[in-house]
Amino acid sequence: MNADRHRLNKIECQVTIGMEVHAQLLTQTKLFCGCPIDWKSPPNTLTCPVCLGMPGTLPVVNKRAVELAIRAALALNCKIEKISIFARKNYFYPDLPKGYQITQYEHPLATDGFLKINSSTGSFGKKVRIRRIHLEEDAGKLLHEANKTLIDFNRCGVPLIEIVTEPDITSPEEAREYLTILRQILKYTGVCTGDMEKGHLRCEPNISINPAPFGRCRVNHGVRTEIKNLNSFKAVEDGVRYEISRQIKILESGNKVEHVTLLWDEKYKKTQEMRGKEEAEDYRYFPEPDLPPLVISKEWIKEIKNTLPELPAAKIKRFIEIYKIREYDAKILCEEPRLADYYESLLKLCPDIKLVTSFMTGEFIELLHEKKLTIEEFTLTPYYLSKLFDLIRDGTISRNIARDVFPEMVETGKSATELVEKRGLKQISGKDELKKVIKEVLIEHPAEVERYKCGKTQLISFFVGQVMKKTQNRANPKLVNEILTRLLR
Ligand code: ADP
Ligand code: ZN
Ligand code: MG
Repeated sequence: MNADRHRLNKIECQVTIGMEVHAQLLTQTKLFCGCPIDWKSPPNTLTCPVCLGMPGTLPVVNKRAVELAIRAALALNCKIEKISIFARKNYFYPDLPKGYQITQYEHPLATDGFLKINSSTGSFGKKVRIRRIHLEEDAGKLLHEANKTLIDFNRCGVPLIEIVTEPDITSPEEAREYLTILRQILKYTGVCTGDMEKGHLRCEPNISINPAPFGRCRVNHGVRTEIKNLNSFKAVEDGVRYEISRQIKILESGNKVEHVTLLWDEKYKKTQEMRGKEEAEDYRYFPEPDLPPLVISKEWIKEIKNTLPELPAAKIKRFIEIYKIREYDAKILCEEPRLADYYESLLKLCPDIKLVTSFMTGEFIELLHEKKLTIEEFTLTPYYLSKLFDLIRDGTISRNIARDVFPEMVETGKSATELVEKRGLKQISGKDELKKVIKEVLIEHPAEVERYKCGKTQLISFFVGQVMKKTQNRANPKLVNEILTRLLR
């Protein structure tokens, strides 16, 4: 693998990647019937004759689904087509009771967009063009057990958008970067949860390599393969990397890459051939006779445009400019819109930007990870948290103590003041009290005192550490430092 990467770095072959992403739209009900969507419901409880494909039933388009698709398309700089057409994609599979999927084919909802990413050469703002976004319904879900396969039709008819890029991505890292930014936008706009584990976001990269060096005819791509079954961004990156080196080996041995669909095997970290790639003819597409063309008015587009939130790139830029924080921190804080909102609410309550920023990007995010909480599930309000900052700022507790108190506030729902009182965590700022502890420490470590006096003044932090330990972190570190320096002189 390393050798292949090396060759790639020398640009002896050009890597071309195009991405197809299916995103589940955050509607309450399905795309063509009124069945609710709820992944927690038992199998086959959320179905009706329409989504089960009974003869004689008729689909009716869910307006909210169209609205969400338009939201996504606008956020991705696409042109919304005035008229788009639903089409039948015919294939035979047990998870598809109708025998066809309603999708959009020749006339998709939106075209010609782009998304800006950081390119793998480090340049900012590389455009990945978006070829099309179309609406379609999901199929059911097959559950494979030891010697049987079960079908859950709850997912039949759940609304999806498919977002297809031009082949503008040129490395595994860029593929991941594109997906990261895309997911962020879908979450910001409230179009999709972005949850890959639940299958709300599914990514299928298409990969080809061209042995000709860069610069020569860009269109001269090699034969592409498509990878399915990638359940995380990490898997996408690994899968693409694996596929590039597999294709290089094939070409080097004088063989040809076949146009196939591959499955990613997460356990063995390799791709496996699933089937020969079906071509469009295999699906016998034709316009859906049960649905009229989808007509979208300019006014509606405008209305939707007006409700779009501030998008991540703009928010990050604003945070850097207004709050003067590092780009690195701004990116962390803007990862989720609700996290960014929380941060800004806190800043309204506590003017110490440095403290709030370091706490949010540090302890706060660590706690969310540790407890596997999303920001939506986090119940401590900014107001309550700001009270903890008040205690730090007026010197009642140290930052270290705050680190201990914070998880307890979250766990017990008790206020910072109450916890600090009850556990006796108030900072020791009494000089006499501190002096007593410091003297004890010096008596306990005569050798270090001797070395300090011979010039090894870095030992000061050792003494401070000992004092903090003796006081369970409650000593005021600034005062300890002052008193120590004086006593050791
Ligand atoms: P299909 O449904 O057959 O997979 P689509 O046209 O919907 O075809 O999607 C094809 C995807 O493959 C697009 O994202 C496109 O950018 C990408 N693609 C096209 N040609 C190449 C190529 N030579 N190498 C890599 N990706 C490609
Ligand atoms: Zn239904
Ligand atoms: Mg494809």
